[in-house]
Amino acid sequence: MTSPPTGLRFDDALAIVRDVAVSHRLETETLALSRTHGRILAADVHAPLSLPPFDNSAMDGFALRHADLQDGETTLQLAGEQFAGRALGLAVAPGQCLRITTGAPMPAGADTVVIKENSRVDGDLVTFVAGAVPPGSNVRRAGEDVAAGELVLRAGSLLTPARVSLAASMGLASLPIVRRPTVAVFSSGDELVEPGMALAPGEIYDSNRELLMGLLRADGLEPTAWPRLPDDPKRVEIALRDAACAFDIVITCGAVSAGEKDHIPAVLAQFGQTHFWKVKMKPGMPLLFGSLDQARVLGLPGNPVSVFATYLSFGRALVDGLQGRSEARLAERAQLVAPVDKEHARREFIRARVFCDDHGVLRADPNPATGSHRLRAVADSNALIVIPDGPQRLAAGEVVEVLRYA
Ligand code: AMP
Ligand code: MG
Repeated sequence: MTSPPTGLRFDDALAIVRDVAVSHRLETETLALSRTHGRILAADVHAPLSLPPFDNSAMDGFALRHADLQDGETTLQLAGEQFAGRALGLAVAPGQCLRITTGAPMPAGADTVVIKENSRVDGDLVTFVAGAVPPGSNVRRAGEDVAAGELVLRAGSLLTPARVSLAASMGLASLPIVRRPTVAVFSSGDELVEPGMALAPGEIYDSNRELLMGLLRADGLEPTAWPRLPDDPKRVEIALRDAACAFDIVITCGAVSAGEKDHIPAVLAQFGQTHFWKVKMKPGMPLLFGSLDQARVLGLPGNPVSVFATYLSFGRALVDGLQGRSEARLAERAQLVAPVDKEHARREFIRARVFCDDHGVLRADPNPATGSHRLRAVADSNALIVIPDGPQRLAAGEVVEVLRYA
């Protein structure tokens, strides 16, 4: 057996996560439109009809023939009404106009709408005040937004409210969606206690569970928290194998480093496959990635800041890849408020407060806290600054990539 890749460069590790995820893309399901918000589209959608589907009025007013309008005032005969709703099949003859409302189909013969505010009605005569009205004014043309047959939504794109609404406007009642991965979340460690319980000396409260559950929910998933894993190899094995036969993703935190009680890498190596273990990043170096039964397993280190850095970069890539998301997430950049230096070769993630200054420039103020256990500095911040691989000496004002989480 060849030993798994270890000590990978950040980009190489990310490429492995993406490749494995894409090759395990989840199946397609057809969902009612109202269930597709925030999901990933599984197939291209071509417009089944044009938008607008017919020429219609953009304003409340009168439909008429532009050729009938004179330089001064013009009086035309009111020949009927076409309100938004079923087309009545009315026509406008020379010298006539028709009362019309926004969204109503244009009557045959009419090419222009003059707004109500520029008219005077007297019985069945309507006088239009002087003023140039270009031909075609206030008319929305069939197909000017979307032509029937056109590719309007691409496979792999995120269904935003606007895109779901576009599908609705074309009459689509359901869409093909990639199934969302099911996720089992484990925290591990004999020192961990549920909030609400009393602490014995040496114990701490489990904070990573809420961190991971919240991050996964914010990414549109419905994760399941499993009971905490004790630092016992047999029980780790049983719980992980159990979860791995029922979930698409198993995320653990803690017990992936080189300590005597870090049993997860060995369980994965024995019963599954390790795609890599240890990445040149800070924090988060002991990150573990593999496959076990039907699940992809992501073993995150236990320190809260490591959980953040590894989830935002690798966890998200896994979640996106399994859903076939091909639309890249917006890469954000900001100007450093203070200089940042590092000597080591690893990619580094630093807590920061990102804000928009008075000139409209996004700026990142690095938090001086060091130590990947310091959760409060994460809570006081709203982003991680990404400091590239290799020694860096970044001055204030330099532009860095930021991963915003709040
Ligand atoms: P480990 O990766 O298991 O060596 O854990 C690294 C550090 O993170 C230790 O100080 C653990 O106590 C802490 N830690 C691990 N899991 C959690 C958790 N779920 N909540 C809070 N701290 C944790
Ligand atoms: Mg531990």
